[in-house]
Parts: sequence; C-alpha cells; structure tokens
Amino acid sequence: CGIVGYVGHRQALDVVLGGLRRMEYRGYDSAGVAVLDGEGALTVGRKAGRLANLEAELDSTGRAGFAGTAGMGHTRWATHGAPVDRNSHPHQDASGRVAVVHNGIIENFAALRAELEADGVEMASDTDTETTAHLIAKAYADGDTAGDLPASVRVVCRRLEGAFTLVVTHADEPDTIVAARRSSPLVVGVGEGETFVASDVAAFIEHTREAVELGQDQLVVITRDGYEVRDFSGEPAQAKPFTVDWDL
Ligand code: GLU
Repeated sequence: CGIVGYVGHRQALDVVLGGLRRMEYRGYDSAGVAVLDGEGALTVGRKAGRLANLEAELDSTGRAGFAGTAGMGHTRWATHGAPVDRNSHPHQDASGRVAVVHNGIIENFAALRAELEADGVEMASDTDTETTAHLIAKAYADGDTAGDLPASVRVVCRRLEGAFTLVVTHADEPDTIVAARRSSPLVVGVGEGETFVASDVAAFIEHTREAVELGQDQLVVITRDGYEVRDFSGEPAQAKPFTVDWDL
C-alpha cells in the first residue's frame, strides 16, 4: 500500500524505513525492504505484520548486509496470496539479482505464471507480483533488452494488464532504480545528490519538496543526479513537476 525507492548519499535503509513509517496511516499487512550495497550485493528483508515486526527482524541480524545508499521499501495490502512472510515484497527472481515491489494488481498474472512455469521457473510465492521479477530478470539476461534495465522493465510493463506501481532494482545496476506506473500513483522526489520515488509524497517530504508526478504508462529512471521519464515504448515523456507545500 506504500512504496518508496531511494538513490543518494544517506543510508538507504533509514530513508526507506522512515518513508514507510510516514505512509503507515494507509493500513497494510506486511512490509519489506531491499538495499543495494554498490558492490553487487542486493539484500532483502520482509516480514508479515507491522513495520515494527520487520524492524525487529532486521535488528535480530544486526542489520548486517543492509549498508548501502540505494534501496526500496514496501508495505503490502494483500490481494493475491495470504499476508505471510513469503508473500511479502520485495519479490525476486531465482538468481536473487532482481527485486521488485508492487502496489496494485496484475490481472493477467495467471497466464504469465503459466508461461514462466512452462519455462521451468519455480514460484516462491502466491502473489501476482512475483511474475514481474522473473520476466524482468529474463529480459535483462537476453534478447534486445539484455543488460538494459529500463528497457527490460518497459518490455515487461507492456505485457501487464491491470493497475500497478512497480519499483525495480538489479544488483548489476547499483546506482539506478527504475519505477513505472499504470493507474496507480507514482511521484519522484528531487533532492541534492539524492532522488526518491514513492507512491505518496509523504514518503520523502522530510527530505525534499521538489516533486514530479508521473503520467499514465510512464517509467522513470532515478540516479543520484536526477531522473529521466519515458513512456512504455521508450520515447522521452513529460511528467508534471510541482512543489509540495504542506506543513509537516
Ligand atoms: N497484488 C500485490 C500483492 O498481493 C500487491 C498488493 C499491494 O498493493 O500492496 O502482493
């Protein structure tokens, strides 16, 4: 029910957990995070229940492996699959190199899942979301989109039916986060040497008031230096900049 992604100069885990906390009022049943350490490691933590459960789980491992300045987080309102740990986001492909968080519903997930299973992919969850992690990993591994994360996400988005906000990371691209939307909210937060994506400006207004609202079927690539918006066919697209003027 809440999504946040971050690339910058602070510890991503702190920024992401802070952002999720600010969106807690929306209600959710599970929470999770992923952090990229900049050296090719992607670490995921996820837990059913309140954010406090996730934080207790992270503390039990001393938050080992969660050092890094790029990452993302999610609070889930389950639509497909019970609210248990294994259905919590982020979801990953079999190699663990790709992580995806999603708000919304992938209406055609059953067909996508059948296609992946016919290809020998084993599903680790009961969610509609997990299919996107496998499809993106596959697109990144071979064909025209090989080694190109934004292009891999675009090609998969074009196959999805339903409403989604997706945030995607790949361990091979530690300085980049890709996010896409259809019929579900997505905003970018533009800071100094740091950039955010979120389902709600509440996730980042503590850090920046400069925001950009993505339009329908748009995808954004964020780095520490800024952002770039394209449509799902890869053409440059216009998104709407605005300044958040609420009081905290
Ligand atoms: N449909 C996805 C799930 O059930 C995402 C739900 C959400 O929006 O949090 O896991």
